[in-house]
Amino acid sequence: MPKTMIEPFRIKSVEPIRMTTRAERERLLEAARLNVFQLRAEDVLIDWLTDSGTGAMSARQWGAIMEGDESYAGARSFFRLEKVIQDITGMDYFVPTHQGRAAEKVLFTAVCKKGDLVPSNCHFDTTRANLEYVGVQALDCVIAEGLEPATLHPFKGNIDLERVEALLRKEGARIPFGMITVTNNTGGGQPVAMANIRAYAALLKKYGKPLVMDVCRFAENAMFIKMRESGYENTSVRAIAQEMFSYADAATMSAKKDGMVNIGGFIVLRSDEWLDEVRNDLIMMEGFPTYGGMAGRDLEALAVGLEEGLDEDYLRYRLRTAEYLGEKLDAAGVGFVKPTGGHAVYIDAKTVLPDMPVAHYPAWALCNALYLEGGIRGVEVGSMMFGRRLDDGTETFHSMELVRLAFPRRMYTQSHFDYAAEVIADVKQKAASIRGVKITKQPKFLRHFTVQCTWA
Ligand SMILES: *Cc1c(COP(=O)(O)O)cnc(C)c1O
Repeated sequence: MPKTMIEPFRIKSVEPIRMTTRAERERLLEAARLNVFQLRAEDVLIDWLTDSGTGAMSARQWGAIMEGDESYAGARSFFRLEKVIQDITGMDYFVPTHQGRAAEKVLFTAVCKKGDLVPSNCHFDTTRANLEYVGVQALDCVIAEGLEPATLHPFKGNIDLERVEALLRKEGARIPFGMITVTNNTGGGQPVAMANIRAYAALLKKYGKPLVMDVCRFAENAMFIKMRESGYENTSVRAIAQEMFSYADAATMSAKKDGMVNIGGFIVLRSDEWLDEVRNDLIMMEGFPTYGGMAGRDLEALAVGLEEGLDEDYLRYRLRTAEYLGEKLDAAGVGFVKPTGGHAVYIDAKTVLPDMPVAHYPAWALCNALYLEGGIRGVEVGSMMFGRRLDDGTETFHSMELVRLAFPRRMYTQSHFDYAAEVIADVKQKAASIRGVKITKQPKFLRHFTVQCTWA
């Protein structure tokens, strides 16, 4: 077998990306106050800011879009998507929303109350924010290995079952349901084992609690199970996904991930116990139950996308891209969170800029350097994102300084990854000349999006 990873698609429609000169990029980054979020996308060559809603749709999806039924109530497109979702999830009640966070808001508003506590492996930031907004404590219970970047473990997204059992015993009255995120985005896109999902569901059941899965990357998680968990080598990814869903009582999904579409999301429920409340909230917040937050054409594109996202050739290529970049980084002596996850590679900036003081924001500096050197846009996951300026003017810093490169689906080819690996290796060679930053202006919340900086 040839070893080259092969993109299991050919290109029918292209979108040019623009080469800029180094001098241009210096000017553009300074105009953006040294914050890549403030760049225009057309000034970026390779945009790895996020994998959310950024992927390429297939010819079949674009064809399906023309079949969208835009009827307000009872559209054909709703029933087509409902059938696909019922088949994959084994659950009867499908509730469309415009994206993942809307699914969370609708579900939590319907089901949670102030003072509740919801455990998960790691809550994604919108999940946490939506829970906290209704007064719920969102608790992360990922296994210890999930927090150690250099520790190898096949399922670093697993939830710590002992910790959850202790919680159920002590705080059971406050827990309306347990959650689990597949793959664990906040923990680096790391998968959760089938055995862990099964045991977690059984534990919750013992205490009479439902399991709600955050299934944004369920197909990537299923492929990891096929590749890493014994007993699943010869099971189809679709059957693995169906088994994962069989342990859940409900799920929330951002279709912008494994739904292979640019916008969309849903809630799916096994029983009708929460259905009336959920649909009432849906009508208030999103729309009528047969379109929710989506146009008929978006429902069609998602019906095709969910099927395509389970294609094993595609998933093999998908997981291989991250692993491939990881191998190149290893060869260049650049550290990263291991093993690589499904949708992203997280570079450990301290291995590239070991001498830069944390007060100069090394991961932010590396992010800027990747843009200056090669027109690549990633996102800092370090002290700019998680640090704080306290009221007395002192700064707090995050324990890790990471740069996340997240890969849009079906968009970039092997040569883009080769190019990026070269740029990263060049940046490491030039580490001594990379400049850190200091903050000149920052908002109170989510400062990384709009912070303004100058060279340190
Ligand atoms: C993206 C994401 C969400 C939120 O979805 P949006 O479509 O961005 O609103 C929730 N959970 C996880 C794990 C995600 O990755």
